[in-house]
Amino acid sequence: MTIVRTNARDVSKASVIAGEILLVEDQRSLAQMAAKMLHERWGCHVLIATSLAEVHAILAQGDRDFFVAVSDLNLPDAPNGEVIDVLVAANIPVIAMTGAFDDDLYDDFMTKGLVDYVLKDSLNSYAYVAELIGRLHKNQGIKVLVIDDSESFCELIKHMLQRQKLQVFLAYNGEDGLRTLEAHPDIRLVLADYMLPVMDGLAFVTAVRRKLGKDRLAIIGITGAEDRRMSAKFLKSGANDFIFKPFSYEELVCRVNQNLDMLGKLDVMRQIAYMDYLTGLPNRRHLFEKGVARYAQALKKGEPAHVVALDIDHFKKFNDTHGHECGDEVLKHFGRLLAVNFKNDFVARIGGEEFVVLVCGGDPARVLQHLEAFREAVAKSVVQYGNLQLSFTLSIGVTSQPQTIFDAALKVADDHLYLAKARGRNRVVHD
Ligand code: GH3
Ligand code: MG
Ligand code: MG
Repeated sequence: MTIVRTNARDVSKASVIAGEILLVEDQRSLAQMAAKMLHERWGCHVLIATSLAEVHAILAQGDRDFFVAVSDLNLPDAPNGEVIDVLVAANIPVIAMTGAFDDDLYDDFMTKGLVDYVLKDSLNSYAYVAELIGRLHKNQGIKVLVIDDSESFCELIKHMLQRQKLQVFLAYNGEDGLRTLEAHPDIRLVLADYMLPVMDGLAFVTAVRRKLGKDRLAIIGITGAEDRRMSAKFLKSGANDFIFKPFSYEELVCRVNQNLDMLGKLDVMRQIAYMDYLTGLPNRRHLFEKGVARYAQALKKGEPAHVVALDIDHFKKFNDTHGHECGDEVLKHFGRLLAVNFKNDFVARIGGEEFVVLVCGGDPARVLQHLEAFREAVAKSVVQYGNLQLSFTLSIGVTSQPQTIFDAALKVADDHLYLAKARGRNRVVHD
């Protein structure tokens, strides 16, 4: 195993949309302000067109990749929304901006295949558009399952959801739905009709909830408007939300996106709860939930499991000499070294300058060799802090003795670490 040094920056980079945004707006100053806002929000290039003629000219170039078009409905050379047809025909998802909206116009534009429309009353409308674009961007990787026994209904919903850049799977009864979920465990949202042959919508929700919580998979129940009590039944069975047939594209999109937003927020909260803020590594909670399970699994399979406790030597001196921020830099640097050198193992920061690595598989001699090499590499590595070049050493305790519980193994590794400190630091102590 080779030891990797790293100067890699934090991985938390702002998400950037692939492709350009086409902004169609005849008021130049408004267009420029909106383009600036969208560019600052999403980091992608925003191309402005101020007339239908300009849109034609841009499309004629044929070599551009538009993520979405944000288009005014009324242009001097196309006063009746003709630009929408042109953009839709070019396969560009369109968000329409409009001054006023009546129901007929709405139905007309929705059947044309708009992603959405936004009332254009102020620059604030573009802030809303920016959020919509963000939702589309996130939707790209998201899988949704639609379950209904009507093939034509399934196809209709599929097209609606695909307009939102979602990846759509179809199933025609509850059992079929369960099989699809099993084959694609990363499906995040299910739209399930009540009336299904083989296994109805309620039975489906009940079966799914035995395995997957509401925070992992959102389910929206669907049924005909005649049975008003069905919504409560669906929700009590474990659905996140409910929608009566017939529904508009707009209502469907609002409910789908709201549920996906909620899942996204829960994902972020879960990530924060299980991640160490400073180093981005899994934290103590993560170790004691996921790491413990992994340890037990390895032992059950008869695989060796090595528990490693690591602690930076005299770390306090960085804080005392150069300040807490300097100590933080050392910790981040060390966190990166751990992450790249134990890519396939379970790494966690469990306390101030205390870390744990769980290595499953591999014989003790090889693990020890890797740890020795890592210890040496750490001692040679340099942390750049302002004009200062700092270095530090590391003490390590490791045990490969199988224990009935993880905590016992960690205690042994900790005892070995204590010995490493007592024997002069910058060393590895094993069983
Ligand atoms: P030893 O070689 O015996 O391990 O000595 P040490 O100085 O490394 O260990 P000690 O446990 O005496 O000191 C650890 C210090 O780490 C004390 C605490 O203030 C500091 N610390 C804990 N968490 C953080 C943190 O997130 N950032 C910074 N900068 N310091 C931290
Ligand atoms: Mg220490
Ligand atoms: Mg310590």
